[in-house]
Amino acid sequence: MSTSQSRPVVLITGATGFIASHTIIQLLEEGYDVVGIDNLANSKKAVINRITALSDRSIIFRPVDIRDEKALDELFTVYPINSVIHFAGYKAVGESVEDPMLYYSNNMKGTTILLEVMAKHGVKNLVFSSSCTVYGNAEQCPITEESPLQPGNPYGRTKWMIEHMLSDLAASDPEWHITSLRYFNPIGAHPSGEMGEDPSGIPNNLIPYITQVAIGKREKLYVFGGDYPTEDGTCIRDYIHVCDLAAGHIAALESLHGNGYEVINLGTGKGYSVLEVIRTFEKVSGVTIPYEIVDRREGDAVEVWADPTKAYKKLYWRALFDLERMCNDAWLWQLRNPEGYRSNELPFASSEDQFSLSTIIDHSTKITLRDTKTA
Ligand code: NAD
Ligand code: UDP
Repeated sequence: MSTSQSRPVVLITGATGFIASHTIIQLLEEGYDVVGIDNLANSKKAVINRITALSDRSIIFRPVDIRDEKALDELFTVYPINSVIHFAGYKAVGESVEDPMLYYSNNMKGTTILLEVMAKHGVKNLVFSSSCTVYGNAEQCPITEESPLQPGNPYGRTKWMIEHMLSDLAASDPEWHITSLRYFNPIGAHPSGEMGEDPSGIPNNLIPYITQVAIGKREKLYVFGGDYPTEDGTCIRDYIHVCDLAAGHIAALESLHGNGYEVINLGTGKGYSVLEVIRTFEKVSGVTIPYEIVDRREGDAVEVWADPTKAYKKLYWRALFDLERMCNDAWLWQLRNPEGYRSNELPFASSEDQFSLSTIIDHSTKITLRDTKTA
């Protein structure tokens, strides 16, 4: 990473996660410098290696938890960070029902600590990962930003509460520029097939489950519910390519200064049923997906798709990739990485992990080189 002040430095929380990693690639391509942190609760360090290989640039990465106020404080002291894209958090709906405090602690408390440290250092530009989950089982589609908010589970409520916190913060101090992006269903992978979604254990989400069936890791897909009031009886979602989503973050970051607090949907504006996704995947991969229609999954909304008009008006952004492309890229990623990222792929020396930030202050150039070598 350059130590010059000329390029904007963005702190990415949850940097090794699915959406953040794709966003970092685009930030690097756009000339930003990136400091990434992640506690690796749901991702692997190997991601950093792939980012470096694909972008031909390195980032500063630290295995930091957003609840570690001291570590955050040190990062803001050392690096000239001027904005934050905050992805870090837990996201499994079922887990949030079983263990809500895990979610309130990590997502809410973590964000509170991050905001306090940002304020302390006068860094008041923030893009936040929210979710269409805040709309719950919407009464009407397409969903606009003004649609009623009725999150139906603790995970969704953490996003909803954080949005309120951010809105209050921006209202209290005009120096804050904050955009909450409500993502619809991010799928797909980097077109190279070198980065993608890497769920641990049995995938909760549709596309990773389908790709694992296609590659023979799972016997068949269980389609949750075939008796919904939709054309083919299965639920409808607005699937969006992760690279389109990444581009939405750059657009949001670049338009931050025009506003105090904004909420923006990031979706394609098109809904597809589960059976349509299966058929599209089969078409692009040439692989038949055995499936069985089973009981509905508790808490699933019938139909969720976005009105993305505001994103176009405010950010001049719209999704470019279609469902075929999303399926194609997810399949390529699965084929090239049948086991996902390998944990031994990027042997970070333990001494590197433990590197004292005070050493970095004294020898920033030297550390930059070390980062390049190890990332
Ligand atoms: P992900 O799990 O791949 O990425 C989240 C990252 O945050 C992980 O790498 C995890 O290790 C890290 N993390 C969690 N708690 C942390 C903490 N306390 N400190 C530091 N790092 C921490 O998930 P993703 O799909 O890339 O989602 C990113 C964000 O987008 C999340 O906030 C999620 O709630 C939100 N979101 C995701 C979806 C989706 O379907 N993938 C939809 C809407 C919103
Ligand atoms: N789904 C399914 N089988 C699976 C996973 C998901 O039928 O193994 C369905 C789910 O009921 C929903 C859609 O696929 O209608 C998208 O689910 P996902 O978990 O990917 O995203 P969600 O919209 O729930 O966040």
